[in-house]
Amino acid sequence: MTLGIIAAMSEELEILLQDMSLEVKKVKANMTFNKGKLWGKDVVAVVCGIGKVNAAICTQILASEYKVDKVINVGVAGGIGKEIYPGDIVIADNLVEHDMDTTAFGDPHGQIPRMDTFDFKCDTELVELARKACKSIKDINTFVGRIVSGDEFVASIEKIQWLEKEFSALSCEMEGASIAHVCYLNNIPFVIIRSISDNANNGAHMDFEKFTPIAVKNSTALLKEIVLSM
Ligand code: SAH
Repeated sequence: MTLGIIAAMSEELEILLQDMSLEVKKVKANMTFNKGKLWGKDVVAVVCGIGKVNAAICTQILASEYKVDKVINVGVAGGIGKEIYPGDIVIADNLVEHDMDTTAFGDPHGQIPRMDTFDFKCDTELVELARKACKSIKDINTFVGRIVSGDEFVASIEKIQWLEKEFSALSCEMEGASIAHVCYLNNIPFVIIRSISDNANNGAHMDFEKFTPIAVKNSTALLKEIVLSM
């Protein structure tokens, strides 16, 4: 079993890479694929860059060239709703691309036209492993639900209210749904786990700077528990 681990930004993978015993490092599409052992498992860990296109290219390389059996995406995200605070964890059970818009044809926001699904569902076993792993880490609140992704850093109350109303989303970020989309097309089980760095509201960019380190610490701790239990 080879596990693909994707993060969008180098700081999201930094702690994990320190624990990894590297076998081969290869650059493809300007992304560095680190193949080796992590917490007793065969993994390929990679920083994909920010946004849906980078994330999609990276996931397809993991599928086609590394033939990974499962994919886990970790990183930070904006929290939606009053109860979610920086440092909390959101485990996606499904994802939608919130910036896909063919509403002119009568489609709902987020629907990719001519695709046989509205949302991309995470693997139920991986979601369950993540949920169990959360219980063993104290002082972290965990939520399970929908994450929405788009090529936009969400930083306004109007936009988060819209994402909440339109998609019942718990969190927003910029890569998850695209990774999910590629995994769906390649039939690879996946889960997206995000730790909250900001509340996607006015001032989100300042919270993002402040809380990203703690959010990364939390998501890495959780990932370790998951990998150890696999
Ligand atoms: N100039 C910043 C840009 C960060 S983009 C930098 O280079 O550090 C934000 C990243 O964090 C994306 O990878 C996204 O997935 C995630 N993210 C965190 N909070 C977000 C929010 N409120 N809206 C969208 N993405 C968010």
